[in-house]
Amino acid sequence: MIVDENFDGVEILPKNLRLQAERIACENMDESREDLEKMLPEEIGRILHELRVHQIELEMQNEELRQTQIELDAQRERYFDLYDLAPVGYCTLSEAGLILEANLTAAVLLGVSRNNLVGRLMSKFVHKEDQNNYYLYRKKFFKSDEKFSFELRLLRENNPPFWAHLVTIAAKNSDNISVVRLVMSDITEKKLYENELNRIAQYDALTNLPNRVLLSDRLSQGMAQSQRHGLPLGVVYLDLDGFKEVNDTHGHEVGDHVLITLSNQMKQTLREGDTIARIGGDEFVILLLDLNTIEDAIPMIIRLLEATSKPLNVDDLLLQITASLGVTFYPQAQKIDTDLLLRQADQAMYQAKLAGRNRYHVFDTQQDTLLRERYEFIENMHKAMQLSEFLLYYQPKVNMKTGVVIGVEALIRWQHPKNGLLPPALFLPMIEDHPLSIELGEWVINAALTQMERWHHEGVDVHISVNVSARQLQEDNFVNRLQEILALHPDINPAYLELEVLETSKLEDMTRISKIIQSCREFEVLFSLDDFGTGYSSLTYLQQLPIATIKIDQSFIRDMFNNPNDIAILSGIISLAHAFHLNIIAEGVETIAHGELLLQMGCECAQGYAIARPMPAHEFPGWLATWCSYSEWIK
Ligand code: C2E
Ligand code: MG
Ligand code: MG
Repeated sequence: MIVDENFDGVEILPKNLRLQAERIACENMDESREDLEKMLPEEIGRILHELRVHQIELEMQNEELRQTQIELDAQRERYFDLYDLAPVGYCTLSEAGLILEANLTAAVLLGVSRNNLVGRLMSKFVHKEDQNNYYLYRKKFFKSDEKFSFELRLLRENNPPFWAHLVTIAAKNSDNISVVRLVMSDITEKKLYENELNRIAQYDALTNLPNRVLLSDRLSQGMAQSQRHGLPLGVVYLDLDGFKEVNDTHGHEVGDHVLITLSNQMKQTLREGDTIARIGGDEFVILLLDLNTIEDAIPMIIRLLEATSKPLNVDDLLLQITASLGVTFYPQAQKIDTDLLLRQADQAMYQAKLAGRNRYHVFDTQQDTLLRERYEFIENMHKAMQLSEFLLYYQPKVNMKTGVVIGVEALIRWQHPKNGLLPPALFLPMIEDHPLSIELGEWVINAALTQMERWHHEGVDVHISVNVSARQLQEDNFVNRLQEILALHPDINPAYLELEVLETSKLEDMTRISKIIQSCREFEVLFSLDDFGTGYSSLTYLQQLPIATIKIDQSFIRDMFNNPNDIAILSGIISLAHAFHLNIIAEGVETIAHGELLLQMGCECAQGYAIARPMPAHEFPGWLATWCSYSEWIK
């Protein structure tokens, strides 16, 4: 603010100046003249000079003001040029979303004249699919103190919608009312370019089908949709049969042609919304969404098979290709992710190939669950071995008539950290046919020999029999391994070790087994046939295998008082043993009466609860010290 002393501190404004001039004009002219007449001429000259100087100064100031005004006007024009012709659109929006002012570019972008723009709602220019987003953004950008940017499709009159990048900043207008300044630019080209890049990243260049990336996306979406709608989703893994030969024989160009043609043919069999993706050379995955029932997938799968096996004309060639399909469904009883679903379908496809190609195979989730449980169980057993959770119990075998303890049978147990002491029936069947059974079998032999050593040092010398599975016995290096384990226990007489062969029905090559048993005999390890009488070819074994003992299966003993047939079989087995000069022992002798009858029939040796239950190693010496046979048996 400019203040002049002569005007008593009043602001110099055009209005004030005029008032001041009028006041001076009205003052008494005569008084001024009298004052002038009293003045000396030199004084008047000086005042006139001062007045002239003052006038010049005023004119200069005037000139300066005029120049400033001209510059301001030029600047204003430049600003409006800039504002209107800027490469981006500017608008000011009211809180209600009304366009209060706009530059020319904004009008051009939205395809209307500026007059037609001001006063309209911004939302009128937003694409209907982006209305919700715009609504959400509007709520935010009015509250935000900072710049806020977003992308929307905007409408341009008589033209296709365009993609706009919008930046907003909240401000106040001259009346201190909240407004938002909005800058908009057309990014349609950038969007197209982005879309093209996405397309390249998500689609297979040859067939234009979704690739693995997009498939994985669609599969996740499909799974979510299946959950929402409560309808199953089918996942089909399709691999062409013999496509490699087509490529090799006719060249890649023909191969490409075949892929494109088949892709189109397969696509035509699908419903809208289903996906077919190419995920490898000749591998495709098809997603069948919203099936009413799993069975609904089957006709579609058959149509896919038909679509691939139609004869194809490529150049002058007539080709026929087929496909193998693996199918799995979502949801399943167990939680499952996209990777595993694809793997299941792939596995099923492999089964279809194995079964002869040109067919489909449905993945068996139940079987898979069993397999997986078994796998987990075996893993746990592996760990249990490392943690020394397995141990041996020992059950005495005696001569009932003399009372002599002829040995003990080592029986494996699993001291499970959660489930307690487990009998072998609960875990051995799970590792049948698994290499772990061999490892465990060798552990048992070694543990039994270690125990024999310990008892030997305590002054207790006892024969130990160890159960050996048919699989273990038929291992290539069984005899060597046995010798190696024996060599670890030099104090032990191998004659104190006996092997009980189980599952005799699984003994495949008699001549070989016979040789193995014979080899062991050479270093004094003898064999007995366990559970005798249950195998279907027991007689053959007796004839061919150089065994020392037969153990009568406990099932014949258990029912001997109720079932006359069992008595007949028992006496048959006992006579056989005598005829072949074999030792005989009865298993499962639970009462004194059982023992008495067995003795009467000519079987003196027995094992069973009537004598003792299987016991931990440390209990055996105490039991041995107090054991004496029943008077009923001795007489
Ligand atoms: P097995 O070799 O016939 O062993 C006899 C089974 O009968 C033992 O069961 C024993 O506890 C049980 N038993 C003994 N006396 C009586 C009785 O009076 N009444 C009744 N009801 N049962 C009696 P366990 O210990 O459960 O073993 C079951 C089977 O597991 C064994 O039958 C054997 O085939 C196998 N097995 C045990 N330990 C091993 C091992 O270390 N390796 C292998 N491969 N198999 C083993
Ligand atoms: Mg046994
Ligand atoms: Mg047995």
